Amino acid sequence: MRRVIIAGNWKMNKNLQESIDLANFIKRSLFDIADVEIVICPPFTSLSDVEEVIMDSNIKMGAQDVYWEKEGAFTGEISCSMLKSAGCEYCIVGHSERRLLFGETNETVNKKTKALLREGLKPIVCVGEKLEERKNGRTFSVVKDHVEKSLSGLTRDQMLKIIIAYEPVWAIGTGLNATKDEAQEVHKYIRSLLKAMYDEELAKSVRIQYGGSVKPDNIKELISQEDVDGALVGGASLKADSFCAIVKNCL
Ligand code: PEP
Repeated sequence: MRRVIIAGNWKMNKNLQESIDLANFIKRSLFDIADVEIVICPPFTSLSDVEEVIMDSNIKMGAQDVYWEKEGAFTGEISCSMLKSAGCEYCIVGHSERRLLFGETNETVNKKTKALLREGLKPIVCVGEKLEERKNGRTFSVVKDHVEKSLSGLTRDQMLKIIIAYEPVWAIGTGLNATKDEAQEVHKYIRSLLKAMYDEELAKSVRIQYGGSVKPDNIKELISQEDVDGALVGGASLKADSFCAIVKNCL
């Protein structure tokens, strides 16, 4: 049984006080939700203060990126152990904004994923095609490339700790979400890739989130799909009301 997981990616939004306020609101509104795993991913500067707010609650925290080296002369970077000590349990890697704007590749995603797992953190690994690629019928080949290369060399036990986020790039921040059928088709395909890489039991166990313009009014039909296990939410996670409504609409 795969537990639904809703994660809010705050991106480069929310200063310290705004982060604390949003986390407090979410904690108060969702305190009685047990059937959905709830994760918020504030910017680095807010992590430890948000942790103070959500400590001992049902809200978990993730970061938005990480660097794979343990420590040293890597100005501007943040290590896995730093994230862990700030209270993170999850970390997003390979988000399309990082792939497109900051040169993230499958190889760097793979290094980050392995480093997170070594430190006991759970990676949320993003994959997904651009509009041009979908139009050219390349959705499956791009997703295959992302999944196989970003997740290469993981043991079966490590793979079971991964969350995959299928995020069609054309749906991110555009208001254009994939239809439930479009999402289901790719999620099912990802599960078939996992079966080929490992086995059927593993493929059935790994959670696959959908991401791309998820809102309170489309989450229900998306998670009604057999292979959709939750959502990675950008814009709608910045407002307490819409994020909490998304979580509640999963029940
Ligand atoms: C995201 O950034 O991961 C995302 C899905 O954004 P949005 O919900 O705004 O499309």
